[in-house]
Amino acid sequence: MSRCALVTGIGGQDGSLLAELLLAEGYRVCGVVRSLAAPLPNLAAIGNELELYELELADGEAVRRLLGSVRPDEVYNLAAVSLVPRSWEEPRRTLELGVLGAAALLDAVLRVEPGIRLFQASSAEIFGEASESPQTELTVLAPRTPYGVAKASAQLLVGCYRAQHGLHASAGILFAHESPRRPPEFVTRKVSRAAAMAHLRLLSELPLGNLSARRDWGAAEDSVRAMWLMLQAEAPDDYVVATGEAHSVEELCALAFGHVGLDWREFVRVDESLLRGQADVGALVGDASKARARLGWRPTIGFDELVRRMVDADLALLRAGAAA
Ligand code: GDP
Repeated sequence: MSRCALVTGIGGQDGSLLAELLLAEGYRVCGVVRSLAAPLPNLAAIGNELELYELELADGEAVRRLLGSVRPDEVYNLAAVSLVPRSWEEPRRTLELGVLGAAALLDAVLRVEPGIRLFQASSAEIFGEASESPQTELTVLAPRTPYGVAKASAQLLVGCYRAQHGLHASAGILFAHESPRRPPEFVTRKVSRAAAMAHLRLLSELPLGNLSARRDWGAAEDSVRAMWLMLQAEAPDDYVVATGEAHSVEELCALAFGHVGLDWREFVRVDESLLRGQADVGALVGDASKARARLGWRPTIGFDELVRRMVDADLALLRAGAAA
């Protein structure tokens, strides 16, 4: 019998990449989506290999029923209001989905089959303006946004269920992780698309916010492999998933525009309305030594290659669109 995994948020960047990994590993893959009526472009290539369910994650009863009928061996909770600034516009929904959703899943695992292994997606945003650098699993939690509070709470809940009930539940403290599937609201994709457009002479100006913000940007393919490895480990635990290298938005621009032979300074303009004020986390960089030592995980795609891949993917998309 093949193993079965249930992935919440399967339509997103991480959910779809994880689903591809799980299918390749021979899993039966079930997914939870917000709406079956909405388009799921990230699942276009694998949609007919998946079992999809529409479910409100904060509804404990519905989550229990789903776990009872699907009977997964592993659950990956990736569903979230994933854009940090949006969490200020939708704080209630951010906490409902992020915290009550995690609580509903943990409770359902406990009641339906405590042997189910659970992965919870946490985030570097739990550290806020971090008290030390690089950040580890032991760095003080000091979130500065509703998004960070939701992620910190879900991670703490995972720790409670592990300690109190012995669940095999693990949280991945994921630093920024990108791919061509990142929505263009995120700065990496915004810049890769702009560079591709500028190359095709479809764009003359790119408004951006804080150019000196620094992030530990890794590849999403590497992050989802870390998630899977956490659930294959004998013991559950929380792990930082990061490259250990931080780059600025300015460096991102230089690489992306440089890849298509352009000078970013001729396009980028700082737009004050895109600055995030005090809540903007200036620099985050993670120390993934624990994941390296205990899971054998290491990033395989560097920042330069990631940016080049994203720009190339955007060029291909734009060209395909133009041809159509
Ligand atoms: P986040 O770290 O999950 O919020 O991911 P983002 O990609 O949205 O933002 C990463 C960093 O880039 C933040 O510090 C932003 O302030 C900075 N940034 C600078 N200009 C922009 C912009 O135009 N859009 C976005 N989304 N972020 C920007």
